[in-house]
Amino acid sequence: MEPIVVVGAGLSGVTCARAVAAAGLPVTVLERSRKPGGRMASRLVEGRRVDLGASYLTVADDRFAAVVDRWRDAGLARPWTDTFDARDEDGAWQPKPGPLRWGAPQGLRSLVEHEAAGLKVRTATVTRVDRVDGGLRVDDVSAPAVVLAMPDPQARRLLGPGLADVAEQLDDPFEPILALTAVWDERTWDLDGAFVNGSDVLGWVADDGRRRGDGAPVLVAHSTPDLARGHLEDPAAAGPALVAELRAVLDLDEPRHTEVNRWTFAKPTGSRERTFLLDDGLGVCGDAWSATAKVESAFLSGRELGEALVARFA
Ligand SMILES: Cc1cc2nc3c(=O)[nH]c(=O)nc-3n(C[C@H](O)[C@H](O)[C@H](O)COP(=O)(O)OP(=O)(O)OC[C@H]3O[C@@H](n4cnc5c(N)ncnc54)[C@H](O)[C@@H]3O)c2cc1C
Repeated sequence: MEPIVVVGAGLSGVTCARAVAAAGLPVTVLERSRKPGGRMASRLVEGRRVDLGASYLTVADDRFAAVVDRWRDAGLARPWTDTFDARDEDGAWQPKPGPLRWGAPQGLRSLVEHEAAGLKVRTATVTRVDRVDGGLRVDDVSAPAVVLAMPDPQARRLLGPGLADVAEQLDDPFEPILALTAVWDERTWDLDGAFVNGSDVLGWVADDGRRRGDGAPVLVAHSTPDLARGHLEDPAAAGPALVAELRAVLDLDEPRHTEVNRWTFAKPTGSRERTFLLDDGLGVCGDAWSATAKVESAFLSGRELGEALVARFA
């Protein structure tokens, strides 16, 4: 049998591929970036890894809990906090208890890389998927099944005219976010994470040192989608406004170093009851295939599509 092809090495794609490989079926993962991880992205800033995409994991489903336990036992995941702060209408901060959030000492990308170990992953590839003469083709190679494991707008772009009927179903709009990383010489704040309610500029701030567990004086602040929409062409131009708002809401000095990263397709705005699509060999999975988009949903979507492929091809 020719390999099943999974396009996208975020957590959903890698999880799907693992389920397929575990059943003894051949599978190849194609990723356009240089590394797996997708929106669980960790980037070196001044020589230290910073989580720029997903901020943390939460766990509700037993299947995901088993995987997070495995990550914890391998030293890759750590319980972080169950309490963030939230700004009220008067600008005062109140503790906001919630579920336990997990961080990753080596960055969230390390979790996806761990899951990808042992899989055949080709990075830095650009692909085109189409149905030709009734069969699926990835670039010029035929495949028994193809999985698109990425945000709807990215998946739509890959599909040729023979798959227009599938493209029509990928209609979930995604909203953008800018991520500001700010580094100080020392910590002058006391928080794990903060919901900046009522701001036109900032939505959320995470203490990267506390979630990673090394105590580094680094904050990652996420913009509102509206601010991001106005700066997609030139994210760095939003830097001064993001820094000014961060300093104002948390009463901070000027950071020593800042940088801004763009997520054009950060989060789906819709919700779906189905956890994946499988249409005549063409599968789609990812966090949009859930009621609430998050790391756990991406995992479950990938796992369930992988199991459906195994049921069909094994
Ligand atoms: C700013 C931000 C904050 C977030 N905060 C949280 C949080 O705190 N908690 C939480 O649980 N979740 C959070 N999330 C959501 C979480 O990151 C996602 O739900 C999850 O990582 C999605 O995984 P995925 O596999 O579905 O998609 P992705 O991680 O987006 O993976 C898709 C992959 O496909 C690749 N790809 C795209 N096009 C192509 C192509 N043409 N060819 C090959 N490869 C391609 C991409 O490079 C990428 O690697 C956040 C996301 C963002 C962006």
